[in-house]
Amino acid sequence: MSRGLEDLHIHSNYSDGDSSIDEIVQRAAFLKLKTIAIIDHFWPSVGSRKAGKNFIEQRRHEIETNRIDYPNLTILDGAEVDIQSNGDLNPVAGGLEQFDLVIGSFHWFTDSTRWASALVKALRKKEFQILGHWDAYLSSYREEDGRIAAEALAESGIAVELNGRYPIENTRFLDMAKSLGCVFTIGSDSHLVNRVGKLDFQTKLASSMELQIIQLEKLRQLP
Ligand SMILES: [Zn+2]
Ligand SMILES: [Zn+2]
Repeated sequence: MSRGLEDLHIHSNYSDGDSSIDEIVQRAAFLKLKTIAIIDHFWPSVGSRKAGKNFIEQRRHEIETNRIDYPNLTILDGAEVDIQSNGDLNPVAGGLEQFDLVIGSFHWFTDSTRWASALVKALRKKEFQILGHWDAYLSSYREEDGRIAAEALAESGIAVELNGRYPIENTRFLDMAKSLGCVFTIGSDSHLVNRVGKLDFQTKLASSMELQIIQLEKLRQLP
């Protein structure tokens, strides 16, 4: 089955993306994508521009208007939230449960031991559904740490993202994650409208490594 039709990680100009939600949706419709997730950073997460419930509600209103204009496109309303070193997710005004999709990501450089430790703590709280660009900020990688992380990911059902913005350095982790039963999602992490739907690399990687791309309905529900 072709899975190039879902892009679950797109930033708009509500955070550090360059394009409006309208422009992103137009592009996605032009590309005949089936599902997109507009994912923004909100203060105090890295990459955020503004905070506040009104700001988030205005953004949601734009998403809802586009849903009416483009009934054949599923548009998810999401947030990318920093995972801190103690395993807490950065807060978002109004709470995380208001979103359709929450991506938890590391945006600080760390070795894999601290990474795995923070990740295990974060996964226990089950406040997010996807681990974004899992190795983008890893300064080193040890197999043992990868195993600890992959076991916790598999147990939580939280998906590992195949991200289009950061090159994957440690494909051995993906082998490990696959063998332990982890599931995967694909996102461009586009911050420019012409990057929306650029999923070829991740789609090929998933098929060559036989990684299981999880269906949207099966992503774990937020509490
Ligand atoms: Zn960003
Ligand atoms: Zn990120």
